[in-house]
Amino acid sequence: MQVLVTGGAGYIGSHAVKVLLSKGYEVIVVDNLATGHVEAVDDRAKLYIGDISDEVFMDKVFKENDIKGVIHFAAFSLVGESMTNPYKYYENNVSKTNKLLKSMVEHNVLNLVFSSTAATYGEPEKTPIYESDAQVPTNVYGQTKLAMEHMIKWYGSAHGLNNVALRYFNVAGALEDGSIGEAHNPETHLIPIILQVANNKRAKISIFGDDYPTKDKTCIRDYIHVLDLCEAHVLALEYLFNGNPSDNFNLGSGEGFSVLEMIEAARKVTGHPIPAEVAPRRAGDPAVLIANSDKARKVLGWVPTRENIEIMIRDAWCWEQNKRY
Ligand code: UDP
Repeated sequence: MQVLVTGGAGYIGSHAVKVLLSKGYEVIVVDNLATGHVEAVDDRAKLYIGDISDEVFMDKVFKENDIKGVIHFAAFSLVGESMTNPYKYYENNVSKTNKLLKSMVEHNVLNLVFSSTAATYGEPEKTPIYESDAQVPTNVYGQTKLAMEHMIKWYGSAHGLNNVALRYFNVAGALEDGSIGEAHNPETHLIPIILQVANNKRAKISIFGDDYPTKDKTCIRDYIHVLDLCEAHVLALEYLFNGNPSDNFNLGSGEGFSVLEMIEAARKVTGHPIPAEVAPRRAGDPAVLIANSDKARKVLGWVPTRENIEIMIRDAWCWEQNKRY
């Protein structure tokens, strides 16, 4: 069965391609390479380089293949950039998704798994966060993802587009063999930056704030291995193929780790002292973000197997040392 992965040359998309292939799916990738890497796309996938908003191009993709479902990752995802350039985020994330949905409906491809985010919740009122909690984004990136969720729901009621939105918490790790992994430019995420220090590519890690109301005063996040996350995407797609109703699911581990704990775990995994210094808070960072993901476990039958942060750091470390792109 053929599945289209938009953004399949990106960090999470490229891992999803691997997981889909391992489960016997034929994979079509569409990526405009704005932030993706050709080298990240498995050779067994059929890669189309182009834009999801190019209707002529997407007509060709849908006509040349027999696509039964779409996993939609293609988006920009830098919070800081979204705050200074909202046009770029509304145009790329919202407007282009609108075009993609139009093409899907025209070609009668009516199963969609959407890559959403914990950023749609904003500053949570309580911990852990449930799917039914209020979604009040505090940044443009989260707001565009929420707009995309809403748009998809309206296409659901207007055109019968069956959909699942997966709201991720902090995605980490890489394929175990280190052949693909996270490669953002600029890199802003905690684990890759810590590991660049361990790999002597940076002098130290800055801890953004040590005055939060948490056990060690640094921010707490819920980390999830990229392969566990991608398994959930395939389960969500199969859930839709089986005729189940559209829904939303959180994807996280339910356990929180502070910035200091992550640095300590990386010291243990890499054997490097990883110098750290306290820096001012980063604007817009909530103190604690932890998911309740019981619904994904119960309804989708999701069983994450790599919930240990040392496993995530070990796999990311393997990638950091083998980086090809
Ligand atoms: N963080 C940090 N130093 C860095 C990068 C991130 O202290 O160089 C902190 C950040 O403030 C947040 C946590 O690490 O509390 C995770 O940040 P990341 O950017 O990886 O993910 P986010 O939670 O923003 O999605």
